[in-house]
Amino acid sequence: MTAPRIGVDLDKIEQNTRVLVDRLAPVGIRVTGVTKAVLGSPGVAAAMLRGGAGGLGDSRVPNLDRLAGLGAVRTLIRSPMLSQVGRVVVVADVSLNTEAVVLAALDRAASLRGRTHGVILMIELGDLREGIAVDDAPAAVRAVLGHPSLRLVELGGNLACQNGIVPDDRNMGVLSRLVDAAEARHGIPLGTVSGGNSANIGWALTSDDVGRVDDLRLGEAVLLGVDPLHRTPIPGLHTDAFTLTAEVIEVAVKPARPWGDRAQAAFGEAPVRTGRGTVRQAVLALGHQDVALDGLRPPAGVTVLGMSSDHLVVDLGDHAVSVGDEMDFGVAYGALLRATTSPFVTTVEHRASPVGSTAPRP
Ligand SMILES: *Cc1c(COP(=O)(O)O)cnc(C)c1O
Repeated sequence: MTAPRIGVDLDKIEQNTRVLVDRLAPVGIRVTGVTKAVLGSPGVAAAMLRGGAGGLGDSRVPNLDRLAGLGAVRTLIRSPMLSQVGRVVVVADVSLNTEAVVLAALDRAASLRGRTHGVILMIELGDLREGIAVDDAPAAVRAVLGHPSLRLVELGGNLACQNGIVPDDRNMGVLSRLVDAAEARHGIPLGTVSGGNSANIGWALTSDDVGRVDDLRLGEAVLLGVDPLHRTPIPGLHTDAFTLTAEVIEVAVKPARPWGDRAQAAFGEAPVRTGRGTVRQAVLALGHQDVALDGLRPPAGVTVLGMSSDHLVVDLGDHAVSVGDEMDFGVAYGALLRATTSPFVTTVEHRASPVGSTAPRP
């Protein structure tokens, strides 16, 4: 098999989805499976759907295009580019929106194609990324209702992505009150509140009252089994659904410390090597073009010494490794995202259970 490659255990993705779907169902929250960290992989998306996800979300139009044919509602989870509205109404049933000019363009594009496009109006709740100011929400609701080819699906929020703001009863309550107010004012039942992302799970499972929130858009928790607020494992979930495999291209015993005058390295200041004596060093054919160093987890007993565009240097410790051998690494979110979107990294998806069977519920 080619290296580097990222292996995906689809059964683990399915099981992670199932556990989260089952935990959130009692509080009335459904799961939209987010595939942007895996380049909109239809295999991963299908695993999420088998695990009980109610729909699919991705931030990129080409990824949503790959998800056609799965029969699931597709949501574009980033505001459409004005230049892309024509494609958006084709590949997405629903999109997240904040701009009146985009809503007008989506309405025209949908009407031109004889379609109705669903809109989730995103509200700014304090994380200062996308979102309409709370005071401007009523006017935005009116604007959507005034567009014949748009359908107001829900209000939504997104926290913890830009400034790490934690979802709580206070900021989530703002969304619920806005929905109640909009329903009262316009006399229409507003479907739902798309409360947030993986960072909302802790809140959703501990809050006394999740209010009107009935959907979460979940990527990282499903894929990697961690709570992104503190990157701690979520009990009962697999944290090892993905494995990055790279090939060793040099093995040598080398001095622990570099010699000669020091200036900057390829990616700025190099970490200072402080060891003494010699190290058993390996170079792997893996670099910044393939994966992010941040979030790359070497096997136990192996230490990462540094990475440049195309070379990863590790201290092998006691590991017996030869040129041509492969080594497996774990990945956190940033490393996963880079690897699945790198043209140099092959993705290999596998299922232990035969296709068509249902995995045992963990
Ligand atoms: C990426 C993203 C998500 C999913 O976030 P995770 O932390 O991976 O669950 C949800 N909503 C929006 C708007 C996003 O951009």
